[in-house]
Amino acid sequence: MRIARVSVPGVEFPVYGVITGEKIELITGLPWPDISDPVAALNLADVKILAPVIPSKIVGVGKNYADHAKEMGGDVPAEPVIFLKPNTTVIGDGDFIVLPPQSTNVHHEAELAIIIGALAKNVEVDRADEVIFGYTCANDVTARDLQNSDLQWTRSKSFDTFCPLGPWIETEFVPKDQKITATLNGEVKQSSVLSEMIFKIPQIIEFVTNVMTLLPGDVILTGTPAGIGPMPAGASISVEIEGLGTLTNKVSPRVQ
Ligand code: MG
Repeated sequence: MRIARVSVPGVEFPVYGVITGEKIELITGLPWPDISDPVAALNLADVKILAPVIPSKIVGVGKNYADHAKEMGGDVPAEPVIFLKPNTTVIGDGDFIVLPPQSTNVHHEAELAIIIGALAKNVEVDRADEVIFGYTCANDVTARDLQNSDLQWTRSKSFDTFCPLGPWIETEFVPKDQKITATLNGEVKQSSVLSEMIFKIPQIIEFVTNVMTLLPGDVILTGTPAGIGPMPAGASISVEIEGLGTLTNKVSPRVQ
């Protein structure tokens, strides 16, 4: 199922719905653990698609494609390297990525995002599927100059608007060798396949949940392939994953 979180005219709070073609059937409450019966159907064109989740936390995996580890000047790590982004980084499809004045080199990182659907603690590899709700596209926006100068990643990964997610969650998506691309102003900058990930999704789930408990709606970013690069003001950046969808955002300077 294709599940979106949307803003409906006249309704004060975001609601979830199931997209079928050009229609969306709205449901009550959250889509996990089970999706309730629809309460209304609207044309997709009449709602605004929002970020598919507001997670309690976003866990990023660094250097999870060998070609990207190489372009960052490092070896392939022996175990996953993880970091956190705050949930205030989240924006949806069509929203603006805002460039902070502290950085002159803000990069795109096209990534597959896992959406967690159940409380997950010490989840072993062979049970990882039980806690995955679905998948969406993500852009792990990173202030590369600050990442290098700070020697750790919190500031560079944490500016508001630095985690575009969406446009929706696909609950039946099975990651295999689907293409993942980042396109900047119509030019392909990153192009790989999901099978190039070093640590596979079940391993990542086990590794992360042996550290921290994940809650429904939490997000894991599974790493980016080679081809990262700057997103100047005025640019349009799209992350596309075959079979999932396309997440497009424009880039804006911060205006007071
Ligand atoms: Mg990343």
